Parts: sequence; structure tokens; C-alpha cells
Amino acid sequence: MAIKKIGVLGAGTMGNGIAQVAAQAGYDVVMRDIEDRFVEGGIKNIDKFLSKSVEKGKMKAEDKSAIMGRIKGTTKMEDMKDVDFVVEVVLEVMDIKKKVFAELDEITRKDVILASNTSSMSLTEIATATKRPDKVVGMHFFNPVPLMKLVEVIRGMKTNDETVATTIDLTRKLGKEPVEVRVDIPGFLVNRLMVPHLLEAIKLYEQGVASIEDIDKAAKLGLNYPMGPFELMDLTGLDINVHVAQYFYDNLPKESKWDPPFTLRNLVKAGILGRKSGKGWYDYSK
Ligand code: NAD
Repeated sequence: MAIKKIGVLGAGTMGNGIAQVAAQAGYDVVMRDIEDRFVEGGIKNIDKFLSKSVEKGKMKAEDKSAIMGRIKGTTKMEDMKDVDFVVEVVLEVMDIKKKVFAELDEITRKDVILASNTSSMSLTEIATATKRPDKVVGMHFFNPVPLMKLVEVIRGMKTNDETVATTIDLTRKLGKEPVEVRVDIPGFLVNRLMVPHLLEAIKLYEQGVASIEDIDKAAKLGLNYPMGPFELMDLTGLDINVHVAQYFYDNLPKESKWDPPFTLRNLVKAGILGRKSGKGWYDYSK
């Protein structure tokens, strides 16, 4: 069955980005959230992004209208009944994910793939809420979706080859580059690569090996990273970094390297959370 209409469940930060790229790639999109204000917020965000593209001369005004015309915002779950593929983008809470997957399993055609944009949850567990675990897959986009090229396609224990192949193919049709994650494991690929370098940077600082500024400088000039590890932690939020490291420590094979370093824990205890609190590893208050 050819994919023509994509259902996006959730109109938040990631949901409206995914709806946008799908509509830009020529798909009809049904974007569902639980309240009108969330749906409207998502549509407004897409409109704002596309208006900027038109202003910059990157897109014609009529193309923008055609893209907006392909997106239907709704609060009704029943509107998912005739979609050919679903990307779930609701909150990162297992009970909520399972509840919406059970609903999607009832409402959508039996051949429809149900993908989740989860950043950390087990696809295998999410799939237990459905009668089609072979058609449940991870489709992990990055923020901001219209600009970030990568999508991690994650296989749950029961995901079949056809589901993975179709999801990889769709990823390419959306103008993104897929990587296949063959094992349903916390952190998938990108976070498993990223977190150790952040934690190692903190340990170098705690051991007095170098200053925060010089560690960031080394990463940028020596590894060509666009941002140093401390700058990156300040941007994502130190509380998020503690949470992710602790999650890895608790859920991956036991290794002390995942244990969040004490300096990081103490900063979070003191409410020093990065850019969002005005101070993190660097001071943003001035
Ligand atoms: P968000 O809070 O911006 O949006 C979530 C939306 O889901 C909200 O608008 C909420 O009202 C809606 N929602 C809740 N229950 C719903 C339901 N039953 N049906 C439809 N909509 C419902 O969150 P987000 O940042 O877009 O994250 C969504 C998912 O994407 C999470 O699983 C998160 O881990 C993952 N993710 C987030 C990022 C990121 O940088 N924000 C990156 C990659 C993956």
C-alpha cells in the first residue's frame, strides 16, 4: 500500500516539525493534538517557518500555500482512520505512549506502520500495547526537524524487516538520512556517542587537567565540533544531562562511566541549569 497520507500524533516542538517536512515532501498530513490551542500552536509554528523561507526568497508564496493546504489539524483521534503511516510524537511518558498506541491500533488500518519519535523509551515495550508489534518501529527525528538531516530508525524485538525497510524509504522521501539501529537499547546511536564525551569533559575539568574554556576550545578546534561539550550542556540544560546519564547508568550494562559526575549533580541541586537559568558552566546573566 503506497503511503500518501501521514498521521502525526502531537503538534508540539517535534510534531509540527515532522508535519511540516511531510507536507513539504508532498504528503497529506493529519496532525492531531488533544486541545485546539496545541493544534493551532503547531500550525502557527509551521506557518512562521515557511513565511521566513518565502521572505528569504527560498520558497515561492504559492508553494507555501500548497504545503499549508496539505496539513489538516485536528483534535479528533478518528481522523487518523484513513492514514497510511503514523508518527507518534506525544509526551515522553510510557503510560501515555502505550495508551495512544492502543488507540491507534484500534483506529488505523491493520497494515499501517506505527512509528514513535521517542528519544529514550523501549519500542519493544510500546509495541506490547498493540496487536501489531511487527509494525511498531522507532523513527527518531532531531530538533529542529526541518533543519536536522538525521533520523534514527529503531527496531523493536518484534519489528519485521518490511517495517524497517518502509520506514527507511519514507525517511529518504522526507528528505532525511536514515541510520538503522538494530537493537532496542537506551540512547540508540547519537546519544550513546554524545553522552560519554560530555561526561569525559566534566571529569577532565574535575581532575584539574584543563579549564572549561580550553576543553571547549579543544573540542571545537581539534575535533571540528561546532560546539564545545560545556557549551552544549548549557544549551540542552544540565538537569537533562543528569537525567540522561542516570538513565543510562540504570538501564545499560553497569559501567561507572555513566555515573553523573558530582560537579554536574551539585550544579543541578543548586538550580544552576544552563542557559535557561541564566547560569550553567558559563554565566549568561550579563
Ligand atoms: P512537546 O511537549 O513539545 O509536544 C508533545 C505534544 O503531545 C503536546 O502538544 C501534547 O499536548 C501532545 N499530546 C499529549 N497527549 C496526546 C495525545 N494523546 N494525542 C495527541 N497529542 C498528545 O514535546 P516534544 O519535544 O515535541 O517531544 C515529543 C516526543 O519527541 C517525545 O517522545 C520526545 O522524547 C521526543 N523527542 C523530542 C526532541 C526534542 O528536542 N524536543 C528530540 C527528539 C525526540
